[in-house]
Amino acid sequence: MPFRRRAAFGCFTVNMSAARCQCKRSGIVRGSDVHLSVSIVRSERKKIHVISHLYTSNCSQPTPGEVSLAHHGVLFLDELPEFQPQVLDGLRQPIETGEAVIARANQRVSFPARFQLVAAMNPCRCGRATEPGFACRRMPNERCMADYQAKISGPLIDRMDMVIEVPAVSAADLILPAPAEGSAEVGQRVAAARALQGERYRALGLPLLLNAHAPPAVLDAVATPDTGGAALLRDAAEAMRLSARGYHRVLKLARTIADLDGVATIGRMHLAEAISYRGATDRIRAAA
Ligand SMILES: [Zn+2]
Repeated sequence: MPFRRRAAFGCFTVNMSAARCQCKRSGIVRGSDVHLSVSIVRSERKKIHVISHLYTSNCSQPTPGEVSLAHHGVLFLDELPEFQPQVLDGLRQPIETGEAVIARANQRVSFPARFQLVAAMNPCRCGRATEPGFACRRMPNERCMADYQAKISGPLIDRMDMVIEVPAVSAADLILPAPAEGSAEVGQRVAAARALQGERYRALGLPLLLNAHAPPAVLDAVATPDTGGAALLRDAAEAMRLSARGYHRVLKLARTIADLDGVATIGRMHLAEAISYRGATDRIRAAA
């Protein structure tokens, strides 16, 4: 996915700061890699297990951590419950503000951290609680799942727009024909939707690139659903006890789903899809 000029400049600045870091840590972009990381692809920094480096380095001078190196890119955290709870809850602030603030004894520094968080986790510590016929080792499957999923706090899960349960791939799945729409076609649709969003906010004179960055006041102007959609959202918000944050996140996601369809008005089906992605969110929040 190509960078926009402003996003590329932000990434360049972050990477130049990181290049000043002299401490040794795995996977950090150094000065010689800066051109590569900016001009070719968004940064997708996979499988971060060096949790102390998520927000800053161990240098004497604060330098950008992984959340900032993923600025305008993807931050992928594998096995989410294995991170320390305080490290995970530290994600809440950059998710909300797009900045990582580092406070040390005599200084306070903030780095940009507008990343897309993608996280993966097993259903339970044994990893197979949802498989038919599998019995968890130490306790009933339901309790094993609840224990493991409770490691993700309610406030953090409330900030996740889409939670999707993915069943294990079976041998039968592997021999199925390839889907009609491949990754390249999906990529084109995503790029078109992102361009549409950039145009929308530029036309309004706002310094926003994506629906995800839009504050609630802007949503009133760009994401008002039609009558059927508004009724569905009102009922769902009541039934699911959506927080104000959850309500606005559903609206933003529905706006994006409509953009992917190339439709100007958010309809009932766009909201129904956006709301469905919060179903699993509620289950995990109940376990927390
Ligand atoms: Zn288990």
